[in-house]
Amino acid sequence: MGDKYLIVGGVAGGATAATRLRRLDESAEIVVFERGEYISYANCGLPYHVGGVIPARSALLLHTPESLKARYNIDVRVKQEVVSIDRENKTVRVRRADGSEYDESYGKLLLATGSSPMRPGIPGIDSDRVLTLWTVPDADRLRGWIREKGAKSAVVVGGGFIGLEAAENLKRAGLSVSVVEMDRQVMPPLDFEMAQLLHEEMEKQGIALRLEKGVTAFEDADDGIIVRLGGETLKADMAVLAIGVKPNSQIAAAAGLTLNARGGIVVNARLQTDDPDIYAAGDVIEVRNIVDGSRAMIPLAGPANKQGRIAADNMAGGDSAYAGSLGTSVLKLFDLTAASAGLSEKALVKSGKVRGEHFDSVTIVQNDHAGYYPGAVPMTIKLLFGKPDGRVLGAQIVGRNGVDKRIDVLATVIRLGGTVKTLTELELAYAPPYSSAKDPVNMAGFVAENALRGRAVFSRWDAIETTPEAVVLDVREDVEREAWRLPRSKDIPLGQLRNRLGELNPELPVIVLCAAGVRAYNAARILMQNGFKGVSIYPGGAMHYRSTHYLDEIDAIEHGRIADSGDVEEAEPVLSLRVDCRGMQCPGPLMRVFEELEKLKDGDVVEVSASDPGFQRDIEAWTRRTGNGLLSVRREGPDTVALLRKGNREAAVQAPEGERGKTIIVFSGDLDRVLASLIIANGAAAMGRKVTMFFTFWGLNALRKPEGARVKKGLIDRMFGAMMPKGVGRMKLSKMHMLGMGTSMMKHVMRKKNVFSVGEMLQKARAAGVRLVACTMSMDVMGIQREELLDGIEYAGVGSYLGDAEEADLNLFV
Ligand code: FAD
Repeated sequence: MGDKYLIVGGVAGGATAATRLRRLDESAEIVVFERGEYISYANCGLPYHVGGVIPARSALLLHTPESLKARYNIDVRVKQEVVSIDRENKTVRVRRADGSEYDESYGKLLLATGSSPMRPGIPGIDSDRVLTLWTVPDADRLRGWIREKGAKSAVVVGGGFIGLEAAENLKRAGLSVSVVEMDRQVMPPLDFEMAQLLHEEMEKQGIALRLEKGVTAFEDADDGIIVRLGGETLKADMAVLAIGVKPNSQIAAAAGLTLNARGGIVVNARLQTDDPDIYAAGDVIEVRNIVDGSRAMIPLAGPANKQGRIAADNMAGGDSAYAGSLGTSVLKLFDLTAASAGLSEKALVKSGKVRGEHFDSVTIVQNDHAGYYPGAVPMTIKLLFGKPDGRVLGAQIVGRNGVDKRIDVLATVIRLGGTVKTLTELELAYAPPYSSAKDPVNMAGFVAENALRGRAVFSRWDAIETTPEAVVLDVREDVEREAWRLPRSKDIPLGQLRNRLGELNPELPVIVLCAAGVRAYNAARILMQNGFKGVSIYPGGAMHYRSTHYLDEIDAIEHGRIADSGDVEEAEPVLSLRVDCRGMQCPGPLMRVFEELEKLKDGDVVEVSASDPGFQRDIEAWTRRTGNGLLSVRREGPDTVALLRKGNREAAVQAPEGERGKTIIVFSGDLDRVLASLIIANGAAAMGRKVTMFFTFWGLNALRKPEGARVKKGLIDRMFGAMMPKGVGRMKLSKMHMLGMGTSMMKHVMRKKNVFSVGEMLQKARAAGVRLVACTMSMDVMGIQREELLDGIEYAGVGSYLGDAEEADLNLFV
């Protein structure tokens, strides 16, 4: 006791250590050196002060030198920088603001010098208009540019959490904001597809995002700053630099203490440097990553504060150990919260781990609380776990509500070495306003357990593009598809799947998708138990697909393939009905709207409220496709409120030119003609077009089962049936059949040249979602019964064909 402790750095780690030391040792002399003007301030609150969310600057200043002196008897010396350490004589050299210097001796020394924003040698970086957001004076400067100098625009360079918080708050302060990021994604702790949810949110909020762009130069202009990104230039009133931090370890390096390659001070578990009287804590040290034992720099406030406390314990003679960091972090980005803990997929792959072999991941979309309680909104959880032990390695969550509590539960499980099984067993607090009886964390555990046991396989988020040979099976209802459909899919609603299995080829890989994942899982189980090989579930369903592919949708709007939501009419109509769909998860709101509109007459106006975040996009597309009018859409807190006018289907928007369907009447029963029509149908389906093949008269023979069927028929029908070919295998060429020789030769040549047989083409057409429709009228005339035709085809009259023909831009008669 009675030792002398010097602490360099007076904010998170330093201030915590100083007050802890006082509590442990009342008689010690404690001196804190801080080169800045402020100590113990809330640097994490600075962005919100810039945005005006925390209006009072004083709220951020937690202590002053005077208050620390009065309450803790700590000698705080601000505007004094420690410039060197003399380890032999155990003194530090201190430089005052006026340049004068003196030495101060220590018994134990703590380096809590933190980190500083990186300022690489980019030309023009020293301009007054290139700012950072790290300290209280930085925040003052930014506010000054906005309030006094009237800045109206800013380019934020860097998409890490400080850059994004700065962007949100500058936008809140009324500026137009661009974010430039060198990587292909913002928020490095997230995997790319999860970051896409943030990119989408930024686009929605009007932030201009420039990914994969590095700043090559800043140039002062008369009335602003030009930010050069290679060929592209951005002009704004100011630029905010947030491209990462470097540890303030210069004095440690000069004193010969060991540093890692990134300049982080190397410490042992007691947070001692290789000089036993010198400790270090906070952003400046290298830590052990608790998940895989690797060494890392994790500059976050939670670890800095805890390390300050542990270092103080040990400096005062105790024996505390710092186990390591998980990198648990959380970010508010407009309406979204993004959080992560542990390792990402990127990090695992970088460390040599192989997905599927050493680890796996599941992605689920779950409501934050019971769907029937108002205000439920979905969150997307990506869980990474080891194989085969199921140890939870990392988690990422993006959503609107309840994200923080879920990431904390997951971070705790990771910290304690828990497994997927632990997640299934956790008993978490539940009442409808807060959670579901199966909390999203439990659900992530259940799904991961299914994946570990091989009951479900999850595709990657980009599997639909990267595995073109796979059939994409959409098991949503038709009404959902009216709002949005995949670029390619075979559509069978879950309720019809068992009866329509014949339409799918069990040998081909199948990716199953629904709105969020539950129906897809059920569909996958049906397929797997019916002998289908290679069945995978699209993780997070249509919701996740749309967010991870949001750029495709923007592109479609820009190229006129989808109308913009800005096209809605202005009106003040008389309401006929209010429909409250809050708390319903997709597709609930759409189904409900559909049912309610059915009961109304044309022209009636309905107001629909929904909390499902995807509802706005859905209702826009759905009204357009169904001929109903969308009068307005507005946000009310977390809800979307849409005003609709019932219209009729005739008013439905035609698919744009080039995206319209193709119809083919297959009248002929000749092998070559049926083959030609199937080639066209498969080609059009592969281009993503809707195709209907209407089989009538002799063409019906192409759909006959080769093995026939036991059906009761009259004599004429039986004779007729016996004379006609059963299925494509028995069809003949229209020319040069030559008692079968010509037809056999043709089939031989096709096989030799690897051309699919007609039967295979028919199967492929079915798998690609081509509508195969048998004409019921000609079936009747020709005495053909349903049992004789292939499974999975549709039966309809000419009306159905004409409906499709009207929406098509190519109608063939073969
Ligand atoms: P600091 O708190 O940075 O303190 C180091 C101090 O040492 C500085 O004041 C510096 O002036 C002083 N110093 C350095 N060298 C010397 C010297 N030679 N002599 C005297 N004094 C010296 N983390 C989160 O976990 N969540 C968040 O939401 C979050 N938001 C943030 C937002 C912003 C804008 C910023 C800047 C940081 C944020 N952080 C956040 C990070 C967090 O603030 C840091 O990880 C934490 O403050 C690190 O604590 P530290 O004690 O190591 O360093």
